[in-house]
Amino acid sequence: MRVLGIETSCDETGVALYDTERGLMADALYSQVAMHAEFGGVVPELASRDHTRRLLPLIEQVLEEARLSRGELDAIAYTAGPGLVGALMVGAATAHGMARALGIPVLGVHHMEGHLLAPMLEDEPPAFPFVALLVSGGHTQLVEVKGLGRYRLLGESVDDAAGEAFDKAAKMLGLDYPGGPQVARLAERGDPGRFRFPRPMTDRPGLDFSFSGLKTHTLTAIRQLEAAAELDDPARADVARAFEEAVVDTLVIKCRRALDQTGLKRLVVAGGVSANLRLRERLEHECAKRSARAYYPRGRFCTDNGAMIAYVGAQRLLAGERDEIGVMKAVPRWPMDSLEAPASGQA
Ligand code: ATP
Ligand code: MG
Ligand code: FE
Repeated sequence: MRVLGIETSCDETGVALYDTERGLMADALYSQVAMHAEFGGVVPELASRDHTRRLLPLIEQVLEEARLSRGELDAIAYTAGPGLVGALMVGAATAHGMARALGIPVLGVHHMEGHLLAPMLEDEPPAFPFVALLVSGGHTQLVEVKGLGRYRLLGESVDDAAGEAFDKAAKMLGLDYPGGPQVARLAERGDPGRFRFPRPMTDRPGLDFSFSGLKTHTLTAIRQLEAAAELDDPARADVARAFEEAVVDTLVIKCRRALDQTGLKRLVVAGGVSANLRLRERLEHECAKRSARAYYPRGRFCTDNGAMIAYVGAQRLLAGERDEIGVMKAVPRWPMDSLEAPASGQA
C-alpha cells in the first residue's frame, strides 16, 4: 500500500510517501521557522497561510521523487491533531479533496502517535512493548506502549513542555526561535560546575514533570549576572549548560524510573528534544547499565515531518481504518491515550 502522508499541525509543512512493502520512498519538508523568527514564536494565521502556499508543490515534489503519479497512490494520511486548528485544516482539506478526486481512502492521524512511532522508520526498529519518552515543543510524556494504539500514560508535564522550556530559556539568553538547538550549541562551551539548577519533581515518587520553575530559575540567574555586570558570553554559556543539564538530568531520572516500574528493556525517545545529543548520551549510559536499549528517530525525523504521518497512517489504513467520506478532522486538543488499537488488530 502506497500512502501519501501530510503534516501541517504547526510551523512545518511535511509530505512523504511510505510504501508498506518497500518502506519510505520520498519525503520533503518546508520549515516556516525563518518566517516566524522575527515574532519570536509561531504566529498561527501566518502558519496556515504558508501551509496553503507550500503544500501542493511539496506533494508534487514527493511524487516526482518517488516516481509515482497521483493515480498510483493507494491512500492518504494527514495530521488531524493536536495542533493549530487553522494549520491542521489546510492538511485535512487538501487530503480529503485529493482522496475524493482519486477515489481512495483517507485517514486523519494523531501527531504524537506519529512522533512516537517515527523510530519505526529506522533500520533496527524497536519491537513492542517499550517505554516511550515523548519530548517535543508541546508535550513531555512517558508512555507505556504495548502495540499500535495501545498506550498507557505513565506521566506528563503539569506545566511547560521540555521543548517549550528550551525555547523560553533561549529567548532569555537572547537566542533565536526555535531555541532548543541553539541553547544546546551554546551549552557545549559552558562550564557544568558553575551553576546548579533544580531537578523539578525528582525528589518525590511519580513520573510527572514540571519545567516552569526552571524558567524562573534561569531568569533569576541571568538577572543576577546582569546586575553584577558579568553577563558576558562565557557566563551565558554557563547558564545554558546548567539549564540543559537540569532538563536532561530530570528526563533521565524519570526514564530510569519508568523502566524500573514497567520492567521493560526498550526505551523509545522521540519528538524535537530527542535530537539533543547530551540527552542521548546520558540515556545511552543509563540503558547500558541496565542492559536496556534506547531507540531514536534519525535527526530530521525528531521534529515534525511527513514521514511519521505516512507511516502511522499506513499501519492504520492497512487495518481498515479510514475517515468517513467528506468528514475531515481537525482536533486541536486530543489526548493520545484516548487512541485505540485498530479493530482488526492486524498491525
Ligand atoms: P508537538 O509535537 O508537541 O505538537 P512541536 O511539533 O512544535 O510540538 P517538535 O517539532 O517535535 O515540536 O519539536 C520542536 C521542539 O524541539 C522545539 O521546542 C525545539 O526547541 C526542540 N528541540 C529541537 N532540537 C533540540 C535540541 N537539539 N535540544 C533541545 N531541544 C530541541
Ligand atoms: Mg516545529
Ligand atoms: Fe511535533
